[in-house]
Amino acid sequence: MKLRCTSFVLTLALLSSGCATAPVEDIQPGERPSQASDEAGRWMVTGEMEARLATSGRVIDDPALNEYLRDIVCRLAPEYCADIRLYIVRTPHFNASMAPNGFMQIWSGLLLRAQNESQLAYIVGHELAHYLERHSVQQWRTVRDTSSGLVFFQIATGAAGVGAAGDMAALIAVASIFAYSRDHEREADRVGLELMARAGYDPREASRIWEAMIEEEDAAGGSKRSIWLATHPGTAERAQTLTSLAAERSVDGNGFRGRTEYVAAIRPFRADFLRDEVRSGSFATSAVVIDNLIEAGDNPAEAHFFKGELYRLRGKESDQAEAIKHYRLAVQSGPAPSEIHRALGLVYWRTGEVKQARASFAEYLRLVPDASDRLMIQSYLDQLE
Ligand SMILES: [Zn+2]
Repeated sequence: MKLRCTSFVLTLALLSSGCATAPVEDIQPGERPSQASDEAGRWMVTGEMEARLATSGRVIDDPALNEYLRDIVCRLAPEYCADIRLYIVRTPHFNASMAPNGFMQIWSGLLLRAQNESQLAYIVGHELAHYLERHSVQQWRTVRDTSSGLVFFQIATGAAGVGAAGDMAALIAVASIFAYSRDHEREADRVGLELMARAGYDPREASRIWEAMIEEEDAAGGSKRSIWLATHPGTAERAQTLTSLAAERSVDGNGFRGRTEYVAAIRPFRADFLRDEVRSGSFATSAVVIDNLIEAGDNPAEAHFFKGELYRLRGKESDQAEAIKHYRLAVQSGPAPSEIHRALGLVYWRTGEVKQARASFAEYLRLVPDASDRLMIQSYLDQLE
């Protein structure tokens, strides 16, 4: 997936999409490039990036979640299962990538946005297609003999050497060198859809993840929050192509969507992902993401709480009332997170409603007697006396 690319890499991708590429055979299960080949060089550079990401502190190593995603990889491409290493990276942006050596990344912002297992399977299938069809080496051979090729190599080796690969700039640098051409993107969509359908998933779900992204793009307007949203105009076209490809497969409605399974797998992490999302500083798109979760109806108390948090953190004049509205909806919708009372206390304090602020902070300390911020909240209560 060409999801995060620098303008340089985008230019490169546009240039290369117009060039003829020498035919490259699909990779075979267990195959490794021969030592002397240019492909081995690409594997070495990306292997180094992989090692840095693995120790960056950003990888979610929860066994159950990893097993869940791995299982999807193995169901889509059983014979390549052992060749793919999948990393779940905690960062609040929609992204997935595939390196030539079988190092696949799925970012937590994507897991928060997918609505069911079928949608995730499409993404995984798309990334697998880049690996199976050796898009990276094709891309490399197209550019290596140009002056751009040298810069490309410098970016690759530079990114491999970036600090601990833990900061956002390093993550983006690493992800951007896995940018593929438009033709490769189309091919990966076609093959990814084929893989998911063959594994029994409902291919009509593939376009739906892009429809949600279009909603986010519309909400972001011209603010260009994400490099990908700013440089990748093809989302609508992509959604349309996937819709017609799915229609050609004449699904009779028996395809597996896996909503229950997906929701259960993500549930233990959703609050963390939502916390990252509301702190990402992109109000308009985060609001779309949370509204979709509220509409989907799973754990609405949690979703409303984070909608309230989104308003509280933006902190405009009118946001205080909206925050309180969503916190109240959260309490009405079911068991809400205890921190809701701390949040309510802060908003009431800001709006000068001292009595409610005191009551909310006291309720928070009653519900979470061993809270790590107990001393701080107690000091707020003292100030409000
Ligand atoms: Zn792709």
